[in-house]
Amino acid sequence: MGTEAADRWMEVALEEARQAAREGEVPVGAVLVHDGELLARDHNRSIQESDPTAHAEILVLRRAGELLSNYRLTGTDLYVTLEPCAMCAGALVWARVERLFYAAPDLKAGAVSSRARLLRPGLFNHSPEVVPGVREAEARQLLQDFFSRLRTNRRGGKSASSRRAGSAVAGRRSENVRAG
Ligand SMILES: [Zn+2]
Repeated sequence: MGTEAADRWMEVALEEARQAAREGEVPVGAVLVHDGELLARDHNRSIQESDPTAHAEILVLRRAGELLSNYRLTGTDLYVTLEPCAMCAGALVWARVERLFYAAPDLKAGAVSSRARLLRPGLFNHSPEVVPGVREAEARQLLQDFFSRLRTNRRGGKSASSRRAGSAVAGRRSENVRAG
């Protein structure tokens, strides 16, 4: 696949990430593609669903599995705006995803190249091909904007709900992006 197609699919994932930010979620979006066709697109929903597993990657894998009536998603490509965590990297192995394209690294929680290398060939019985850095600058900017807004809101003593959202994500990704 050319970089043009990769850029195009990552744009869809970025749209999902922007939607996540509008919903007060950490802005991470994901898209699952098979043979040039979109199977599923979604974004982080952990806060609104009170579900620590509701990461964008997990949600698109789940949706695609339902669509295809198959828990093996052989031959699919996953595009995600942030390097997957350990949970999501594990899910990619179980799903037999063929290729992973991600945008920004997650220096504190990334389990593909930053904190661990769970997808390296030979570690498990399947290892997706990994293409990092697709539209990295845009994804990184989105995360930085989101967390700087959160910090401003916290300082300004905004509503209880935005404070709650702030503290909920602070434990997960705010530190990562600062470090990035
Ligand atoms: Zn994850």
